Amino acid sequence: MAHKYVMAGVMGWPVTHSRSPIIHNHWIRQHGLQGAYGLFPVQPDRIEDAIRGLRALGMAGCNVTIPHKVNAMKMMDVVDPLARRMGAINTIVVTPEGALHGFNNDGFGYIQSLRDAKPDWRADAGPATVLGAGGAARAVVLSLLDQGATEIRLVNRTKSKAQALCDEFGAGVQAFDWSERHEALNGIALLVNTTNQGMHGEPELELQLNQLPLTALVSDAIYIPLETALLRHARLRGNATVNGLGMLLNQARPAFQAWFGVMPDITPALHQAIMATF
Ligand code: NAP
Repeated sequence: MAHKYVMAGVMGWPVTHSRSPIIHNHWIRQHGLQGAYGLFPVQPDRIEDAIRGLRALGMAGCNVTIPHKVNAMKMMDVVDPLARRMGAINTIVVTPEGALHGFNNDGFGYIQSLRDAKPDWRADAGPATVLGAGGAARAVVLSLLDQGATEIRLVNRTKSKAQALCDEFGAGVQAFDWSERHEALNGIALLVNTTNQGMHGEPELELQLNQLPLTALVSDAIYIPLETALLRHARLRGNATVNGLGMLLNQARPAFQAWFGVMPDITPALHQAIMATF
């Protein structure tokens, strides 16, 4: 019997910078599958039409990225409980019956990226400081709590947004003023930047690291550039660092499995293919 041709892709606006086609098309070739993963530039007011189109086109599903992650959730027939808690989806799976299931694999990707870098990493090793309170922060904070983190210091430029997350996620998360971010590094085991500061085209994150223990793991959700100024400064003073590429690669694995039926690995060849695009 001929193999089914399986189609998936990513909807975003803008979406041209996305590395997801490289990742998924690499795995399709590696596993000898029939199919393709495409880029779909979808304007915000067309997301509903585009998502309804998945079923009509016979697609296995798609990823959704900025700015669709929150709105797309409303169009699902079923939302995974973890995605519901995150308030956003990044992956849609169309079932054989044509139902739309929404998932969010960003938190899985983040935790897995820490484990890949440091196999003995533990969420309960000490306090964590998370900078930012947007979509990436929600995924990171929730997954850290689910992994057993007991003290998360949430620091956001707009403190009310950090406070809203604390109110939602409970006593393990405390909000700090943006001006307190340097002191919030005192005694921590993990620092995470989930703001856009340090991303290509944005200014560097302004953060003094003098109170950060040298034993702390420093991670950045940003992957363009691969080494942000935060990660460079942290590395040069002796901290272990993790960039955002591992989060991106790892969130793609369960999505690929859902669409193509194989749990793929992050191989040196995949790393090479991605690195060639930077
Ligand atoms: P978002 O929801 O728009 O949140 C942006 C965050 O950045 C907010 O906390 C915002 O603070 C903060 N911010 C913006 N300008 C700032 C400034 N001038 N100074 C201080 N803070 C500022 O975006 P997101 O979806 O969470 O994405 C955030 C970053 O994570 C992006 O760089 C994105 O590329 C990255 N990301 C990576 C992955 C991955 O797979 N590696 C996945 C998702 C996201 P306010 O609340 O005060 O506006």
